[in-house]
Amino acid sequence: MKTHTLLLLAMLFAGNSLFAQPLERPKLVVGIMVDQMRWDYLYRYYGRYGNTGFKRLLREGFSCEQTMINYVPSVTACGHAAVYTGTGPAVNGIVGNDWYDRKSGKSVYCVYDSAVSTVGVGKPVAGGMSPRHLMSTTIGDELRIATGFQSRVVGIALKDRAAILPAGQGANAAFWYDDANGHFISSTWYMDSLPAWAVAFNKEQRAAKYIQQPWKTLYPVSSYTASTADDKHYEVPLPGEDKPVFIHRFNQGKGYDLLKYSPLGNTLTLDFAKAAIEGYDLGRAATDMLALSFSTPDIAGHSFGPDAIEMEDMYLRLDKELGEFLRWLDQRYGNDYLVFLTADHGAINSPGFLQDHRMPGMGEKLGRAAVLNEAISKQWGIPQAILSDAGSQLYLDTAAISRAGVPLAGLQQFIKAQLKAVPGIGDAVSIEEIHNGYLPAPFNDMYINGWHAKRSGDIMVVPAPGVKNGSIMGTTHGTMYPYDTHIPLIWFGWKIRHGSSYRSIGMTDIAATVCALLHIQMPGGTTGKVITEIF
Ligand SMILES: [Zn+2]
Repeated sequence: MKTHTLLLLAMLFAGNSLFAQPLERPKLVVGIMVDQMRWDYLYRYYGRYGNTGFKRLLREGFSCEQTMINYVPSVTACGHAAVYTGTGPAVNGIVGNDWYDRKSGKSVYCVYDSAVSTVGVGKPVAGGMSPRHLMSTTIGDELRIATGFQSRVVGIALKDRAAILPAGQGANAAFWYDDANGHFISSTWYMDSLPAWAVAFNKEQRAAKYIQQPWKTLYPVSSYTASTADDKHYEVPLPGEDKPVFIHRFNQGKGYDLLKYSPLGNTLTLDFAKAAIEGYDLGRAATDMLALSFSTPDIAGHSFGPDAIEMEDMYLRLDKELGEFLRWLDQRYGNDYLVFLTADHGAINSPGFLQDHRMPGMGEKLGRAAVLNEAISKQWGIPQAILSDAGSQLYLDTAAISRAGVPLAGLQQFIKAQLKAVPGIGDAVSIEEIHNGYLPAPFNDMYINGWHAKRSGDIMVVPAPGVKNGSIMGTTHGTMYPYDTHIPLIWFGWKIRHGSSYRSIGMTDIAATVCALLHIQMPGGTTGKVITEIF
């Protein structure tokens, strides 16, 4: 009896002390996505980075060197959704920046929502942006559930989709850039009007100041030895410019749109992020989360391509800004914040650059619905057998094909033969073939992970490596090849040990890992696994 009482008391004490011990979590989680940042940018410019930005992240944090996007298409909307839902388009439903909707017969933009209005543009504008199309919860959603909605979750980027999809449907706010006024705006999905701190920020008209500043290189042009000469035939001049060379000016566009090409677009994004952290007083009570994305490296990147001085200078400047931001977070949160830095996708070297160096590279138009429909019409008498070629996928009108009495298999063979005759197209593959494991590993799985039963097409146009969708100029992304899918992933701060790993890690492992660190449930669609070596 006596021992029983003692045992009971001991258990009570143990229970009490356990109860009194609060669960450890950081004050703030900052997810940083650098749009179009290839993994190799960490090292291509390494020698010129300062000690406070990328080098500090690598020096003090944990780098997953072999992080791959594990689905196609490798585009912005899919990347931002996959990082924060821990799964690919097959599950989270974000199959592209745009896709074809069979029900309405129209193209859908990933965050367009006719049921909401834009907030922050004077009187609300009908038809706006929201995360409605996202089919999974996000890290932020799960954090909010876990803390009884004490945690606050905010998404910020110049691009709407890069702010909205990471934050998720249950987020407190997402803000993005308004080309017309140079302000940050939002949606009635989150709020009826902008918070006072955001109104004050917009009143400062920083975009109007920044857009007047020309872009000169940080150092003498001749010192940019990791890049090509400034003027190359495969660079695309900025809107309003004759040549793709320094000094770049941004004040000749409509409204404030050209600021998105300037490194000061990153500066403006960070200015607003700091204003949001202060305005919401993030990290004050429960663990809060900021999903921050830099859109400018992608927007400028498309014009100049990965080998241009512009990109080297962009990253040297971003490195400095990141360093200052980390110092600012240090002062505010001490060791009590967690950062992960990654990218939504990479980019191909300009085919013009590849050709100049006798490497395989070419430009090819991959969306070929119009040409194919003409051929099908001639051969089979169906005027519009292909409804759309959104995302280099062909959406077949199976009802019309069946009405015409044309065997689907025969028509598919015809389409595939036509496509395979195009020089830059490596293959054309039906979803049935992919489900049978037709493509080599790991590409087959990437197609499966990227294909959604309700939103994807029937035949995938597969470019050969080195083939850019479009011209030989500038760059783009979207394929399964490493230049598009090998991304940086660095963990830094709260509970993160220093180190690096070359184990192959999927982009969809990020969400599972953040959730493990925070002791919260994984997002509803998560298929990724925890990266255990970082803590
Ligand atoms: Zn892009």
